[in-house]
Amino acid sequence: MPVSAVRIRDLRKTFGPVEAVAGVDLDIRDGEFFSMLGPSGSGKTTVLRLIAGFERPTSGTIELGGRDVTGLAPFDRDVNTVFQDYALFPHLDVLRNVEYGMKVRRVPKAERRERALEALRSVRLEGMRARRPAELSGGQRQRVALARALVNEPKVLLLDEPLGALDLKLREEMQVELKSIQRRAGITFVFVTHDQEEALTLSDRIAVLDGGRVQQVGTPAEVYERPATEFVAGFVGTTNRIGEVCVRPEKIHVHVDGEGEREGGPDTGDRQALGTVAEVVYAGAVTRYVVDLESGERVVALQQNLRTSSMDVMGRRGARVRISWHEAHEFHLSGAGSAPAPAP
Ligand code: ADP
Ligand code: MG
Repeated sequence: MPVSAVRIRDLRKTFGPVEAVAGVDLDIRDGEFFSMLGPSGSGKTTVLRLIAGFERPTSGTIELGGRDVTGLAPFDRDVNTVFQDYALFPHLDVLRNVEYGMKVRRVPKAERRERALEALRSVRLEGMRARRPAELSGGQRQRVALARALVNEPKVLLLDEPLGALDLKLREEMQVELKSIQRRAGITFVFVTHDQEEALTLSDRIAVLDGGRVQQVGTPAEVYERPATEFVAGFVGTTNRIGEVCVRPEKIHVHVDGEGEREGGPDTGDRQALGTVAEVVYAGAVTRYVVDLESGERVVALQQNLRTSSMDVMGRRGARVRISWHEAHEFHLSGAGSAPAPAP
């Protein structure tokens, strides 16, 4: 078996009475885009800081590329960190911000310059080299922070909610950018986010954290299609419980006034139920229906607006509908407790 880029065994960290990390095992592969996904307070940042060496574990071990680094200082570890607030020097221009770390490590000036320019090229900011951080947009600042980390050519790059400060559109652009930078550079990314869509979009694999514990590790499809616990099912996407089974909102078809039977209407699944539309939310590309079933259960269904408009869908509140889904899209949860009720 190849050596893991990051190998964590029984990692624990307590702050007084708080068990921030409560026994974590992870094997992160070389070159992988690996995300840690979880709600606020689930221990994501603490795990990242332990990998970086900014915190010492209460117990457990951390290996980087097969070397035990548990007792080593941050600068003796082949990792770099990109923080949410970027932490750029405001009085230095872009080029000097990127060069700074190499200057501290006494890399000769010519080499420093060459490597900084190369890193700026990789994030497409070469033309901005003379600007100060205040003269850049949020997305550009984020790319400077990335260049500054990439310039050291770390084996592993740790990113703590690096897109958290960006607005939605920029965030989506930067997601694409990050992914392509990671592929080109071939660096292992350990990416922390509380945003499930971001994790699903970017990652080769995801570890879902809750209460300082790993709830599940898997590919985006595994985590989404086959959540291991109630927590994962509720946190990663919305889960409808219909009787004994769980079905995702986009797998449920809503048939209004026999529309399902019309050519080009929604596909009719082999499982069906009747209900009343309690809420309709038109969201441009999709419409979200909240349907109260005759059985008393409430489900959320997400429909693509292929041929419907907002006028069509808004009139459907209160309508009697049939919903259907395919048995193949059902999944089961064994864990105790209940998933959070789906939000409209
Ligand atoms: P996340 O990044 O998932 O939001 P954190 O790793 O920051 O979670 O925090 C996990 C838990 O540990 C939280 O309950 C937090 O309050 C606590 N914690 C984190 N850092 C410290 C610290 N330096 N001192 C005390 N408690 C801390
Ligand atoms: Mg955090």
